[in-house]
Amino acid sequence: MGGTVAFPRPAAGHQTRGVAPTLAQFTAEARAFLDANAARVHTDEFTWGIGSDEITVYAEKNEAEEAAAVRAAQRWRAEMWDAGFGWITGPPEFGGRGLGPEYERAYLDLEATYRVPSQTVFGTALGVVAPTLLAHGSDWLKQRYLVGLFRGEILACQLLSEPGAGSDLASLSTRAVRDGDQWVINGQKVWSSRAHYSHIGLLLARTDPDAPKHQGITAFIHPLDTAGTEVRPLRQMTGGSEFNEVFFEDARISDRYRVGGVNAGWSVFRTTLQSERASIGARGAGYGGSGLVGLAAPERVVRLARHLGLADDPTVRQNLARLYTGHRLVEWNATRRPAIPPAAAKYGTARHMNWAASMIAGLLGPRICADTGEWGTYAWKQLLLGTPAMRIGGGTDEVMKNSVGEGVLGLPREPR
Ligand SMILES: Cc1cc2nc3c(=O)[nH]c(=O)nc-3n(C[C@H](O)[C@H](O)[C@H](O)COP(=O)(O)OP(=O)(O)OC[C@H]3O[C@@H](n4cnc5c(N)ncnc54)[C@H](O)[C@@H]3O)c2cc1C
Repeated sequence: MGGTVAFPRPAAGHQTRGVAPTLAQFTAEARAFLDANAARVHTDEFTWGIGSDEITVYAEKNEAEEAAAVRAAQRWRAEMWDAGFGWITGPPEFGGRGLGPEYERAYLDLEATYRVPSQTVFGTALGVVAPTLLAHGSDWLKQRYLVGLFRGEILACQLLSEPGAGSDLASLSTRAVRDGDQWVINGQKVWSSRAHYSHIGLLLARTDPDAPKHQGITAFIHPLDTAGTEVRPLRQMTGGSEFNEVFFEDARISDRYRVGGVNAGWSVFRTTLQSERASIGARGAGYGGSGLVGLAAPERVVRLARHLGLADDPTVRQNLARLYTGHRLVEWNATRRPAIPPAAAKYGTARHMNWAASMIAGLLGPRICADTGEWGTYAWKQLLLGTPAMRIGGGTDEVMKNSVGEGVLGLPREPR
């Protein structure tokens, strides 16, 4: 799909509605939009053994199913945009509605009570690339991409990690060499989530190999249909293929695609990183209707324990209470104002989900390993196989703990 899209861009200020509505007016407006365009989720509609028992941490879709899911997500974002809910907090000069975060929260909370297409395909585009562009992009880049990103027409990925540079990203070796008003890129990225259906990627490349490693890096927006760019999907242990390797061989992009100053990529990356951690922490609690934490919702696990005849076991009951407590903490952390540090939110969500997955596997015993066809049992294997990635993507648990220790608690820096 990369690069085949045209980017219609409504005029800046498209979403501005004059005087800001009160929160109550806004919520009524959102409810009217959702009532007219989506069905309500009925919380009492869940009956054990009825319907799909699918648990999705990473989508395990074939190409056609994935393309259909992307199109459905894009259609829904376009409808949201046209109704004025596409970029609630965005600055009006770039097409946003200019309202506070409490309006966005109100919309998301309300939307979660309706059945709408999953918005996870926009996780990187809206959670990471758009905030980075807004903070560091030139006016040309902002005008070219922001509305398209929020309207769902432009899908985006991150091109940061390399085979030899992950936690220590500043060791990256993909090179960008200036040639007039162009840059020539050579090298390789890896673990690029969603690159196979993205149009653009936020790329970090080394532009001064002689400078200290944090100072010789520049950020770019790289259109993935640029000649000399090849995206190769990787298969993960959950069965699907959401990650990719991306290879650059003399791929040329204009200097207009540079984000921030030459050799100033590390400060651009700081925004990217904070946005990613914040969005993972928030997504865990339901951002954009994609809440990972909801997969192990206490109500659902209690039903499983009842089904297995374990609901009266004192140890199981203690674990269910811990599940409930952890679940609420993740939810509260995501909505807390002022927000908790992104590294702490991200670490807390990943830790809770991994504990929940192993607790549920303990309930299921052998049923987690072999598919007997019994409804609502083997399906949990996707949670068990998918959650370990949460401890790595967006920065590993160990790196998050270092970040909280040094940056928040003021502990001595680790030896480098
Ligand atoms: C689900 C998922 C999605 C991802 N999506 C993307 C993406 O879209 N784009 C992208 O560019 N990358 C992506 N990544 C890559 C991810 O950012 C890296 O995997 C991550 O930063 C860790 O790097 P690494 O794999 O090279 O491990 P390493 O950095 O080699 O770490 C190996 C081990 O050493 C530990 N370690 C490393 N440094 C320290 C330290 N200073 N102190 C203590 N322990 C340390 C780590 O905690 C880890 O246990 C994704 C990864 C996952 C799992």
